[in-house]
Amino acid sequence: MDYRKEFPIFENGEKHYLDTAATSQKPKKVLDKVVQYYERYNGNPGRGSHELSMKASEIMDSARETVRQFINAEKTEEIIFTKSTTESINLIAYSYGMEFINEGDEILLGISNHHANIVPWQFVAKKKKAKIKYVELDDDGQFDLNDYKYKLSAKTKIVAVSGVVNVTGVIQPVKEIIEAAHRKNIPVLIDAAQSIVHFKHDVQKLDADFLVFSGHKLFAPMGIGVMYGKKELLDKMPPFLYGGDMIEFVTEQESTFAPLPNKFEGGTQNVGGAVGLKEAIDFIQAIGYDKIDKIGKELDMKALFEIKRLDFVETYCTENVERTGIIAFNVKGVHSHDVAFILDSYHVGVRSGHHCAQPLMNYIGIPSCCRASFGIYNDDEDIAKLVEGLKKVKEVFGI
Ligand code: PMP
Repeated sequence: MDYRKEFPIFENGEKHYLDTAATSQKPKKVLDKVVQYYERYNGNPGRGSHELSMKASEIMDSARETVRQFINAEKTEEIIFTKSTTESINLIAYSYGMEFINEGDEILLGISNHHANIVPWQFVAKKKKAKIKYVELDDDGQFDLNDYKYKLSAKTKIVAVSGVVNVTGVIQPVKEIIEAAHRKNIPVLIDAAQSIVHFKHDVQKLDADFLVFSGHKLFAPMGIGVMYGKKELLDKMPPFLYGGDMIEFVTEQESTFAPLPNKFEGGTQNVGGAVGLKEAIDFIQAIGYDKIDKIGKELDMKALFEIKRLDFVETYCTENVERTGIIAFNVKGVHSHDVAFILDSYHVGVRSGHHCAQPLMNYIGIPSCCRASFGIYNDDEDIAKLVEGLKKVKEVFGI
């Protein structure tokens, strides 16, 4: 099946979009549902007893239940809607981190974490005089479980890692990471921003304590994200955003807070985003993860094979590690932004720069790189254009 046809963005002009890891394109089905919501049902959920407000509440409940089933959470109140992965991690850092991490404690992160899963922890560490430690990579660029187990200690108060590394596409051993932490009663946060679109996440099977992702990398609109947390943890955590809808009673000096999930959902919620997320999840499930993963991996393998034939290009992945549809590369001696600029003249869109992963860049020993990432709408022609564009870079820079 040609999934490209489902995405209206490809109807106008030549586009070889290889930046799905930054944000996915949106299927017409998702876009239509969002428009339909605003045209027919728009209301502020939980704030009124009239038809449209109640309908909006019903829509939020139904989207929450869809997300619950999608990641197999035990309870719907464990699903908190946020704006993004970034907001979800900030929520956990401000709420769990500021409450339970203290002077001398340690926060254990992966060196390949996205800044969204580093900077909020730096804030907590500074405020609470805690220490951040990083788990290194092995020779294949994989999360080093030996280093991890060595660094897990009685002082560790949380482990926070990515399911898939946004720069290299490496699939990290999340199950083993969680098991090792739980042997020491340490909670684990999984940043599923890149992994959720590639394979099934079952939070109960994984026994994840927190799992976060953004809708926009998952065929949904921007501005909607998810923070899953185990109920027993969420119950212990103070609110993050204070204001309307997250309270029970408010007096002049004091407030009590609503039960989950409202406790963490202060203010008007993004109902249109939740509608889009529900539809995007239905879209993924109708296609099936097996197919999505197969397409991504096949394109990745083909592209990697072609790129590796270009002796003026270097890549940062080995065949020894399982990866998703993401390839990091540089044209030797040329800045990644220059490469991306020339590729753009071939209508090839790749991301260039440090990919919000400067500690990883330093670790690999490069200032920046290009990243090609694949989605279900990509095909062999996109790869051919990428290769053609890279040959042009060689010609322009005379290498
Ligand atoms: N974590 C990872 C692994 C990511 O790839 C991204 C997005 N690049 C984020 C977190 C942040 O996602 P968002 O910008 O949607 O909050």
